[in-house]
Amino acid sequence: MEAFRYSQAKTVEGAARANGTFLAGGTTLVDLMKLNVLQPTVVVDINGLPLDKIEPAANGGLRIGALVRNSDLAWNATVRDKYPVLSEALLSGASPQLRNMATTGGNLLQKTRCYYYRDTNYACNKREPGSGCSALNGFNRIHAVVGGSKACVAVHPSDMAVAMMALEATVHTHGPKGERAVELNDFYLVPGETPQHENVLAPGEIITHVTLPALPAGTRSHYLKLRDRAQYEFALASAAVVVTASGGRIQRARVALGGVGTKPWRSKEAEQALEGQSASADVFKKAADAAMADAKPLQYNGFKIELAKRALVRALQTTTEQA
Ligand SMILES: Cc1cc2nc3c(=O)[nH]c(=O)nc-3n(C[C@H](O)[C@H](O)[C@H](O)COP(=O)(O)OP(=O)(O)OC[C@H]3O[C@@H](n4cnc5c(N)ncnc54)[C@H](O)[C@@H]3O)c2cc1C
Repeated sequence: MEAFRYSQAKTVEGAARANGTFLAGGTTLVDLMKLNVLQPTVVVDINGLPLDKIEPAANGGLRIGALVRNSDLAWNATVRDKYPVLSEALLSGASPQLRNMATTGGNLLQKTRCYYYRDTNYACNKREPGSGCSALNGFNRIHAVVGGSKACVAVHPSDMAVAMMALEATVHTHGPKGERAVELNDFYLVPGETPQHENVLAPGEIITHVTLPALPAGTRSHYLKLRDRAQYEFALASAAVVVTASGGRIQRARVALGGVGTKPWRSKEAEQALEGQSASADVFKKAADAAMADAKPLQYNGFKIELAKRALVRALQTTTEQA
């Protein structure tokens, strides 16, 4: 292995040309290398790149460098003021020490916590394509109820990405073919027959930054995470809501769910059920039912459907109560 051959990538172009696996905070990558789940031949340390700024974006929104640490993003004054859903999602994740290391790019690309993926004694199509999926008929309590396939039901674990999905973030990249911008909802792939492909990044393509659009005046947002213990635990179900309401009527709603999907799960069905309606318990319940209408439980995770619905209803109540 030529691990850490490139101790410092001097430029984004240089990092892309090196065509290795990028090392940011290392809190996912190094863990998985120790477990022999990931065995990259070349690791490129990108920490020297100038990608650690949070700045106003040209469209009036926010530009977040890929190497901005999760703690810095969570406590940024603009994020706390204009995008509280993002701050709350970040602060609900991992521990303070991990958040001090973890980066925006690395968080988006963190790997699933499926125990069968992380243990090389078990079959996993994501880790070893064609080997099978031990979760399908195994202990699948933490697995996905939406977006799964016969090849993979692993949940995407990021909290931050769920908030960014509801904020309609755009991922900006640089690769051997140049720069491009991809909406976050199109960035992630559902597993289908090829769960090893989790997103649209090509080999050597690096995330440089993420942009968030400006939100309409009066927009409020909230992230609610439900899990087995209050701290230091991944979501069993979570909800990110971004709502613009006036006089008790919802004009605009963006909804994403975590802990239930093979990718951070945007629910346009829930959004349609909310927009133009009065903020009420009945409307929130209909939106939650719409969000989970296509959910497919496995043997041990059926409880997640009701949990996700309740998370969404509670998040909507909290957000609109403030209005
Ligand atoms: C004990 C523990 C608990 C955790 N709890 C939570 C939790 O509750 N919620 C949650 O959301 N997360 C949680 N996490 C995950 C944590 O948020 C991620 O490990 C972290 O965000 C990854 O960021 P990183 O910079 O360390 O990524 P790295 O480990 O450096 O990289 C992760 C992946 O992204 C790639 N990569 C990194 N940056 C780029 C880039 N700019 N361009 C292209 N590729 C890139 C790497 O090659 C690698 O494949 C937990 C982690 C641990 C260890």
